[in-house]
Amino acid sequence: MARPDGHRKTEHRRRKCIEYTKRWRERNWEAYLKSHREYMRKNDRRTMESRRHALENPEKHRAQYKLKNALWRRRITRPSVCQLCNRQCKPQAHHHDYSKPLDVMWLCRPCHYAQHGKRTHVWREGDPL
Ligand SMILES: [Zn+2]
Ligand SMILES: [Zn+2]
Repeated sequence: MARPDGHRKTEHRRRKCIEYTKRWRERNWEAYLKSHREYMRKNDRRTMESRRHALENPEKHRAQYKLKNALWRRRITRPSVCQLCNRQCKPQAHHHDYSKPLDVMWLCRPCHYAQHGKRTHVWREGDPL
């Protein structure tokens, strides 16, 4: 009589896969940025530019990532008006302190540009906010 152990093998493989994914996620930011670097290589110049920017500003990138996560998990919600000019829009998140990823100002595009204009950094499409 054949032993029906085929199922157990599949289950084992599935668990291994989950383990692997979990471990990957638990790795530090170096791993995350490294995967980005690899991803970056496959992309066009324009995307590469903004990715490079992200890699050169890991603090900023991390803040952006955490914010996206919070939005996705609905821990915070995006308002429908700009906090500076009250214009109805889909405002962009502006970080004034990257060590506080969820502490953001919601700004329409012109206001966001203006905020960055006050500093030396010029915000471009695709940049971390
Ligand atoms: Zn505005
Ligand atoms: Zn900004």
